[in-house]
Amino acid sequence: MDVAAVQSLLIERINSGVLVVDEECRLVYFNRFMESHSLLSASEVIGKNLFDIFPDAPKRWLQRKIQSVFMLNTPAFSSWEQRQFVFKMRHARPVTTSSEYMAQNITFIPICDKGTTEPDKVGIIVDDVTDVFFYQEKLKDTLTELEHVSRTDGLTKVSNRRYWEERFRVEFSTAQRHDHALSLIMFDLDKFKLINDQYGHQAGDLVLVEAANLVENLLRKGDLLGRYGGEEFGIILPNTNAQGAAELAERIRRQFSLLKMQYEKHTISATMSVGICECDSRFTRFEDMVTRADLALYQSKREGRNQVTIYQA
Ligand code: GH3
Ligand code: MG
Ligand code: MG
Repeated sequence: MDVAAVQSLLIERINSGVLVVDEECRLVYFNRFMESHSLLSASEVIGKNLFDIFPDAPKRWLQRKIQSVFMLNTPAFSSWEQRQFVFKMRHARPVTTSSEYMAQNITFIPICDKGTTEPDKVGIIVDDVTDVFFYQEKLKDTLTELEHVSRTDGLTKVSNRRYWEERFRVEFSTAQRHDHALSLIMFDLDKFKLINDQYGHQAGDLVLVEAANLVENLLRKGDLLGRYGGEEFGIILPNTNAQGAAELAERIRRQFSLLKMQYEKHTISATMSVGICECDSRFTRFEDMVTRADLALYQSKREGRNQVTIYQA
């Protein structure tokens, strides 16, 4: 077998698409990879216009690309990241991606006839990069998931303290800069140690989850519940004054005190003590609000628990 025959056999069998067009964009070559993925045979496409064969191809863009290769006599490229595919063909990967079509890197190569320097054909190589596309998608999903996990409390699924404080810092400075209202509710479950002692730690966990769910369902869009630590939670309420916060807190306190939680054969109920602090222009840090809401919370504890107290200077 001579070298030319080996070359054409390889191009025929290679695991990439190879097609060649002339100056009128008529197909003069179409390898086996293209046949099997486009479900068209070489004999039916040779001599036909590329755009008639691939009516979904981005015609203006592709025409300009091919013309520039003829004119400049230099190769050109197109990456799947700019354009997921040029030739719409299904991929044959055993992987699930958001797209059933083959992601492609395309290379355009000028081809000159023997002894000439002006190209009279353009070779187009289609590389199937569906795997790259697939792993990139997976990576993106994983990063999104990771971001979510890194700001969520594992037990209650509400914001963890780190993320909650990060958001609080932003809300605090926005409220101060624009002189908007901002309130903070802090609540702590009453005699929670007794619940653990009486029903076990898992029952205690259930109570925490139920409390978080109940509160979450009473919040507006923009409000943010976070687990501050153990059985203490905080709720950031943008554009809300102390009175609005107190109304919400009272609703939460009441509904929670009426909630019957089922754990194994036990029916558990619990209460919470609540403290509220409204933002004041003299405060310089969000922590100033936390300290004061906590003072109000401990006043609720002192005065018998299961109640709401608004911080007063
Ligand atoms: P008070 O009314 O004064 O708040 O009494 P308390 O018993 O709730 O307060 P204390 O701070 O003495 O106890 C809090 C308990 O919460 C102790 C701790 O073991 C428990 N706790 C903290 N985090 C968790 C958790 O994730 N799961 C469970 N089950 N218990 C927790
Ligand atoms: Mg407690
Ligand atoms: Mg506590």
